[in-house]
Amino acid sequence: MEAGRTTAPSRPRAVATKYVYDFVEGSREMRELLGGKGANVAEMSRVLGPERVPAGFTITTEACVAYLAAGEEPEGLAEQVAEALDRLERSAGKRLGDPGDPLLVSVRSGARESMPGMLDTVLNLGLHDGCVDGLAAMSANQWFAWDSYRRLVQMFGNVVRGIPGDLYERELTAARSAAGVELDTDLPVQALRDLVDRFKAAFSQRTGEEFPQDPGEQLRQAIRAVFDSWSGDRAVQYRRINRIPDDWGTAVNVQRMVFGNRGQTSGSGVAFTRDEVTGAPRPSGDFLVNAQGEDVVSGVRNTREIDELRDLMPEVYAELMEILGILERHYRDMQDVEFTIEDGRLYMLQTRSAKRPAQAAVRFAVDAVREGLLGRDEALLTIDAASLDALLHPTFDPAAEYRVLARGVAASPGAAKGTIVFSAPDAVAAAEEGRDVVLVRPFTEADDVAGFAAARGILTSEGGKASHAALVARGMGRPCVCGASELAIDLSARSMTAGDTVLREGDPIAINGTTGDITVDDVALVEPEMGDEFATVLAWADELRRLGVRTNADTPDDARRARQFGAEGIGLCRTEHMFFNPERDALVKRMFLSAEGWRRLRADAQQAADDERPDAQRRFDQADAAFWRELSELQALQRADFESILEAMDGRPVTIRLLDPPLHEFLPVEHFRAEVERLEQEGGDDRLETARRELALVESLSEANPMLGTRGARLGILYPPIYEMQVRAILEAAIATARGGDPPRVEIMLPLIAYETELRLLREFMVRVAEETMEAAGERVEYSVGTMIELPRACLVAARIAHYADFFSFGTNDLTQTALGFSRDDIEARILARYIDRKILDRSPFETIDEPGVGALVRLAARSGREARPDLKLGICGEHGGDPDSIEFFERVGLDYVSCSPYRVPVARVAAAQAAVRAA
Ligand code: PEP
Ligand code: MG
Repeated sequence: MEAGRTTAPSRPRAVATKYVYDFVEGSREMRELLGGKGANVAEMSRVLGPERVPAGFTITTEACVAYLAAGEEPEGLAEQVAEALDRLERSAGKRLGDPGDPLLVSVRSGARESMPGMLDTVLNLGLHDGCVDGLAAMSANQWFAWDSYRRLVQMFGNVVRGIPGDLYERELTAARSAAGVELDTDLPVQALRDLVDRFKAAFSQRTGEEFPQDPGEQLRQAIRAVFDSWSGDRAVQYRRINRIPDDWGTAVNVQRMVFGNRGQTSGSGVAFTRDEVTGAPRPSGDFLVNAQGEDVVSGVRNTREIDELRDLMPEVYAELMEILGILERHYRDMQDVEFTIEDGRLYMLQTRSAKRPAQAAVRFAVDAVREGLLGRDEALLTIDAASLDALLHPTFDPAAEYRVLARGVAASPGAAKGTIVFSAPDAVAAAEEGRDVVLVRPFTEADDVAGFAAARGILTSEGGKASHAALVARGMGRPCVCGASELAIDLSARSMTAGDTVLREGDPIAINGTTGDITVDDVALVEPEMGDEFATVLAWADELRRLGVRTNADTPDDARRARQFGAEGIGLCRTEHMFFNPERDALVKRMFLSAEGWRRLRADAQQAADDERPDAQRRFDQADAAFWRELSELQALQRADFESILEAMDGRPVTIRLLDPPLHEFLPVEHFRAEVERLEQEGGDDRLETARRELALVESLSEANPMLGTRGARLGILYPPIYEMQVRAILEAAIATARGGDPPRVEIMLPLIAYETELRLLREFMVRVAEETMEAAGERVEYSVGTMIELPRACLVAARIAHYADFFSFGTNDLTQTALGFSRDDIEARILARYIDRKILDRSPFETIDEPGVGALVRLAARSGREARPDLKLGICGEHGGDPDSIEFFERVGLDYVSCSPYRVPVARVAAAQAAVRAA
């Protein structure tokens, strides 16, 4: 602290915010303030020199945010723009609007992240009636001057004042046919002059004002238009889809125009440093001779391949190739540039990291390391891990155009097409006949799973990313769109309606589980390829990552597939999913019914014992015997499944979770009611009596909130023989597997534990059953016992729970459901869109972990669990285990492994490596 300071603090001086930066003041680090385009143009002028990059200045994103908040330009902005314009005019040696030799500028948007085509741009700004002739004289090119003016009046009217673009296109078409030419570039000068008159007339007719002749006014209006475009519908939609925050705002770049429309030695184009589709190490791109940039991107003229430039303008081509190399080396990433050639001179207008499909991303990463451009760690970070999904599933052909019938939740990636079926048995029958079908259901039930396997894809009108349909579909790698609430599905009529469109069974449909799009158009699908380069990237990822990657697999097939994708073990085998097929489903229904019968008989027996009646023991024995008759069949089935799974995993850890069914999925009241109704119609017999008894039992078991009801460990406490049966089956399978080869590593996991006492009681019980089973077999195997951590209380008392657990596996699906109180089945369809609109959420918390809330619970439980038990193994098996952003969080929290569906394993391997590199 400074001693002896006695003077009163000086009055704060108002420091004007700096809203405008000349390109020479900026750099790539200033992206937040200058936007991507502004920061990169600044950087590029440093790298390539001012003679390659036309001078200009950037109005900051802060100015945009202030403008949007106040509804007017912030104080000081107008003066700063005037000063920057003055500097630009002096450096160019021309003045805006000068009748003799006018300076023209472009006004372009540029957000922090590129939003291609979403925000506004105005070119040729500064022209007016009094300076077109001056421009024509200075360039000795009348045509160019009038073409530039008609472009300004057109773009200004369209972009700044919202006059529909087709009005101009109609005028242009009429002008071409009147002149008998096919291309705008062949229009005679007089036609361009006439077009300017007509465009100006349209302007005054539509706006009630004359087209502004003062370049300063043009500039002011254009800057406002770019700011306003941030709030336009197009941009708002784009931000929703791409999760770009609404409060970033866009910067505005004002740059001296260079002209691609000055004749046959001029042109404009875009180029990529490598092939933008395949990533192959040769530049790609398009250009047009005698054209301005927007002609290339708008598709009004057919562009030419960049290679043709080599023959047309060899020197320019050579220069461009050299510059592409310089930029790629400088940015250490594949670039996408815009350029203009003015009278044989090349100018670079923009560079940015190229957006690329997964295939190109992988190819670039591998080549960049091979060429010595990047290290492996840097190369891995250039890949968008989430996009890798596309390499594992068919996708819609990126070039395909189609009409979107409706949109739902993108629940399981990949694309599928086929004819509509409305029931699982129909899907199975169709598959047997070799037909491709899409299974359409309002929502799905356990009975539908055979249909999942048979269908190409699944479409539901209800449910979200964490719903049963989504989980199962992801596990199987079946594309799935859930919660398409615009669809009204009528199962009895076997039809569905979307707006005016009615679709019936047998009609074609295509779904895109990566975007949620649904269409009836015949979209071409592109098959996935997992080539050598992808294998190389995955091998690097395995070297660099710290987190283990396991899989959620419920069947031997899943387990084998996941092994091929590189899973290091099974982090979650949901035993209730093993019953998702019609025969087993019937067995399980019977098991649950007899479980409840057993509980009641045991209660009677207990009463007899309390009354000291002599038949008490016999009653106990009878109850148990009846129940075990049902259980033994299931035990044999489970044992065989476990054996195959353990064999498939070949000595790697396998976490088997004891039964965790929400009862309503296995005992749907409607199913039993329908059976009673059916039998009633057929005329009563014994079966009707049984069906009625079962219905009464099921009704008595039905719960108001099944997700919070008799699930998980609660089932084990209420009906211990069910868990006993499962533990026996697991141990017997482990013993049999150990006889055949490497000792299996079995981890038995309990679901939905809230109280340490639940775990203590169940653990003691399980250990006893395991000991009995091994004793009976005369052989021993190693096994461990752990728990899911998926309830907030479990996180809060993790230290006490750790006392009885060898491992924790975070069930972030239920943890999110219970911590946030959002139904995992319903949030996407009902609440999410509105919550995103109101900026309460920016994405589903079931997709990416809610770090401050649910994440804090995970962090707390991980830390206190480990403090209580340093050797506690920590994993995560909720759906977040396959989400790259969440994986980064799990790396930071120090978990040991993530577990995700088989098709997500490669994504998780790469994401885990990226997280480790970033953490380092
Ligand atoms: C979870 O809740 O995160 C979990 C993995 O269990 P399930 O999805 O089976 O409820
Ligand atoms: Mg759970």
